[in-house]
Amino acid sequence: MISSIWFEGAAFLLGLIFGSFLNVCIARLPAHESLWAPRSHCRSCGATISWYDNLPVLSWVVLRGKCRRCGERISWRYPAVEVAVGVWFAFVTAQTWVRVGNEHNVQIGPWMTERINNQYLLGAAVIIIGFLLIGLMVMDWQTQKLPNAFTTTGIVIGFLLMCLRVAYLLPHQDEVILQGKNPLSSPGNVVDAGNVILTGPEHVVLSWLGAVVAAGCLLLAVRWAYLKLRGREGMGLGDAKLLAMIAAFLGFWPAMLALFLGVVMCSGYALVLMVRGKAGAMTRLPLGTFLCLGGLVAALVGAPLIAWYSSLL
Ligand SMILES: [Zn+2]
Repeated sequence: MISSIWFEGAAFLLGLIFGSFLNVCIARLPAHESLWAPRSHCRSCGATISWYDNLPVLSWVVLRGKCRRCGERISWRYPAVEVAVGVWFAFVTAQTWVRVGNEHNVQIGPWMTERINNQYLLGAAVIIIGFLLIGLMVMDWQTQKLPNAFTTTGIVIGFLLMCLRVAYLLPHQDEVILQGKNPLSSPGNVVDAGNVILTGPEHVVLSWLGAVVAAGCLLLAVRWAYLKLRGREGMGLGDAKLLAMIAAFLGFWPAMLALFLGVVMCSGYALVLMVRGKAGAMTRLPLGTFLCLGGLVAALVGAPLIAWYSSLL
């Protein structure tokens, strides 16, 4: 086998390029501007940016964070987003490499193709959701907007990837177990105890669809209750779509983990603001940003965290 460092290095470079594209999305999508035209230009003087001034991270360092023509500061956010996506791509590639290696080591024999393809599809899902979550995190923080171009598109991509994974189910993974510890179990988390009522890939797909709808509706219900109690909107529709997107990629329980982590971090942030006297009851909190952070944690270490938590119950 070739050393995995080459794959991780290539993934990091690819991530930098995708991060550069993500910066364009972050700057333009919330303002409903086209992603393709006009070409990249300075936000201050309008000068078109040449390709050699538009290389990820490198150009920012060479230009010392300033526009070549007008000298206006270019935010550190640009290289930061590029590095974040690069690191995400490299890390998930390494993680997938280890998992595929483990599948080779643990059991050579029947169902190898299914096991390995499942790991690749899972890796692809985690890479894509990382790209979307990093983008949404920055967009919500800067503009309080979670564009449909990311959330709704993300729900569709996540769901289609899940449908692909159904093609590589292992024995018993096509069973939807309705009575057990984990009623909305996703493929990959086989529950042994409990009543199997539905079998077949179509029911796995349907239960996954149920998980997406349930995650979205949960936040819609909270939003509705808040509106009734307080008489004003406390949460945007975008937050509900964001959680549904996380469920479409990762499943119901990882989405609940993201929600829990997001709410905890957002409350911590609110507390810090209040102590500093910078927030009152009417301050709008960037819940979406923290939901994205929770989603990133759930995508990386959700499965072991949830397994550890269920072992406590
Ligand atoms: Zn300029």
